[in-house]
Amino acid sequence: MPRQPRDHATSSSTLPWGNNQPGKNTPDYAPNGQHDDLRADIQRRRVGLVELRRRFHQRPELSFEEHETAAAIAEHLRRLGLDVRTGLGGTGVVGVLRGTKQAAEKQNKGHVVLVRADIDALPIQEANDAPYRSQTPGVMHACGHDGHIAIALTLADLLADRRDQFHGAVKFAFQPAEERIGGADRMIADGALDDPNVDAVIGLHLWTSVPVGTLSVQAGPVFASADEVFLRVHGRGGHGAMPHLAVDPIVVAAQIVVALQTLVSREISPFHPAVVTFGSIHGGEAFNVIADTVELRGTLRAYEASDRELLRQRIGEVARDVAKGMRAEAEYEIRRGCAACVNDAEMAALTRRAAEATVGADGVPGGDQRQAASDDMASFLAARPGCYFFVGASNPARGIDAPHHSARFDIDEDALPIGLETLARATLEYLG
Ligand SMILES: [Zn+2]
Ligand SMILES: [Zn+2]
Repeated sequence: MPRQPRDHATSSSTLPWGNNQPGKNTPDYAPNGQHDDLRADIQRRRVGLVELRRRFHQRPELSFEEHETAAAIAEHLRRLGLDVRTGLGGTGVVGVLRGTKQAAEKQNKGHVVLVRADIDALPIQEANDAPYRSQTPGVMHACGHDGHIAIALTLADLLADRRDQFHGAVKFAFQPAEERIGGADRMIADGALDDPNVDAVIGLHLWTSVPVGTLSVQAGPVFASADEVFLRVHGRGGHGAMPHLAVDPIVVAAQIVVALQTLVSREISPFHPAVVTFGSIHGGEAFNVIADTVELRGTLRAYEASDRELLRQRIGEVARDVAKGMRAEAEYEIRRGCAACVNDAEMAALTRRAAEATVGADGVPGGDQRQAASDDMASFLAARPGCYFFVGASNPARGIDAPHHSARFDIDEDALPIGLETLARATLEYLG
């Protein structure tokens, strides 16, 4: 059923966050009573924040093609007086904002925290009818990266006005090509973590499997690793009525698929989630002809690096040995995707404090909230201690519940100031 056009910017919020009324869910303010005026400051920037998100939503660009997006980001950062570098990893942008607060000891230059926002969109034709829908046919911000850009730019704005409250620096990294994986590595190779050298990293993902008003912050792995598996089974084609004169690769491929399903259930600890999925299998042309070859493509997901390595090795061994046992041969190749996103315990604790100060302790549930998806924020988290957290963005009562990468994807824009406030509190506490 088509949804009615929405206008979150003008609708009154139903969230405890939005009304600032005392009540059960009214959040406590920041730890140590610091930055207590932050919320009022964010409320003042709220309309601009939503407008910014909608502007980027209307002009989505695909991975490594984010030229207009990058130019708009760079211009915004320059206007704020940041040191800006463009062209990192292709279309990446970095802006450095230095605090002016004097440290107790003069020679203490302070720390540098990197705030990462991904900027690319997806090859999807938007099916929403909102007035701010994508103006580019076949391309859509269907993962929330438009919101990530708007939050990071507004954070730059907000912190630029508060330079005197911190020393050290905030480095904003606007990363291309998260969806295709690879933008993060290229930005790092182009020096995104150097000059000034980054001490810690932080980032957020708007997330529609979590309701708006809720944040998910945890230490350890939060997103899985993702690798692409290719198998080619070579048999010997022949007449469908005379299988004894042929080697049927379809039957061999079927055995391989079933055998590989036992790797997770029999060789990985029951306490460690992992996934082996074959999403594509092709072989044969005619119903009565035995094919020569079958090709399979699949994905491997894991949260522990040791599980990832074990599965990478065992998929090949099992596939080759099953094929051999059935007189066929299997070729195996695995294309390394990205690693798991693993949060540092201290950075996760700091981010949790910021999240609780923003939405209250009830809004930041404990327990295991890992996601099976993947994100190349993993490369930043592997290089420096950091935290990647999820900002709830769904609101089924308003019809906002489509999954990421759906043509009907949208966010409840109340999530934007919540993400912004959490990032601001975390950044200021880190540099404080
Ligand atoms: Zn995505
Ligand atoms: Zn995403």
